[in-house]
Amino acid sequence: MVGKHSAVKRCKWLYESLIHDRPCYKQKFYGIKSHQCIQMTPSLFYCTQQCLFCWRAQSGDLQIKWDEMKLPSWDSAEEILQGSLKAQDAILSGYKGNPKTNWRKFSEALTPRHVAISLTGEPTLYEPLGELIHAFHNKGFTTFLVSNGTVPSKLAELSEEPTQLYISVCAPNEEVFRRVCRPQVPNAWAKLNETLSFLPSFRCPTVTRMTLVKGRNTSFVDGYAELVERANPTYIEAKAYMHIGFSGLRLDYDSMLEHGEVYDFAVQLAERTGYAIIDESVESRVVLLSKREKPIRFEHR
Ligand code: SF4
Ligand code: SF4
Repeated sequence: MVGKHSAVKRCKWLYESLIHDRPCYKQKFYGIKSHQCIQMTPSLFYCTQQCLFCWRAQSGDLQIKWDEMKLPSWDSAEEILQGSLKAQDAILSGYKGNPKTNWRKFSEALTPRHVAISLTGEPTLYEPLGELIHAFHNKGFTTFLVSNGTVPSKLAELSEEPTQLYISVCAPNEEVFRRVCRPQVPNAWAKLNETLSFLPSFRCPTVTRMTLVKGRNTSFVDGYAELVERANPTYIEAKAYMHIGFSGLRLDYDSMLEHGEVYDFAVQLAERTGYAIIDESVESRVVLLSKREKPIRFEHR
């Protein structure tokens, strides 16, 4: 926990990178370094949706209920930045005792350079989000912001854009959206569509991220294609749901697609959108599509 409502969690890929020299797919695609990445959220308990595939504990999962839209008084961006750096330091300290740690990478990891503002919750609910992004940029970080797109007013008025903006698009139509993403706010589908409509106005690279759950949201590819046409993102990431965390209470193991099934979905999407498959990561079951030949890479010093 960082302050009252933020959190940092060690990403599995930070571990894999330091111990087994296996970086995450975002390092493969975009050049950010897994071992120098902080995975954090400023909105640990708050979200506008209760997606079936979400790994976070949602209200009711642990016989504890809370109103996920009853927002707190917010900690300042500077407090969250400093708290996140401290938390990452504490996380890294354990690797000193691991004989398998790659020491060159470990010393680089002590100076994190990238932050994934995602983890859990909806980050656009955090009021001074633009200030938080600015605070990280000011420290020399690249920032990837992941939003479910249901707070368009907030995205439209962001005082500073992230380095790359992800919008989750996990349903091809409103009916599937209601069943899979389980919105907790009125007009969430219309709001997501509004966000997609102004996505082309962002200067930073944009991504529509599709988390695919077998038998739940993989049909109606035409619907996805229409949403992509509206958003005109720099990239599409089609990715299999992973059976981890609290999603195990809502979905079974077989809900995960094989990589080949994700690839087939991506081929169908490519045929309908004019986007091409430009990369993939079999171990993460993700396929990258774009109109660019190669992704933009953000190398760190
Ligand atoms: S970019 Fe995401 S997957 Fe990669 S190390 Fe950071 S939090 Fe983990
Ligand atoms: S939008 Fe993200 S944090 Fe919210 S329920 Fe869905 S997956 Fe979880």
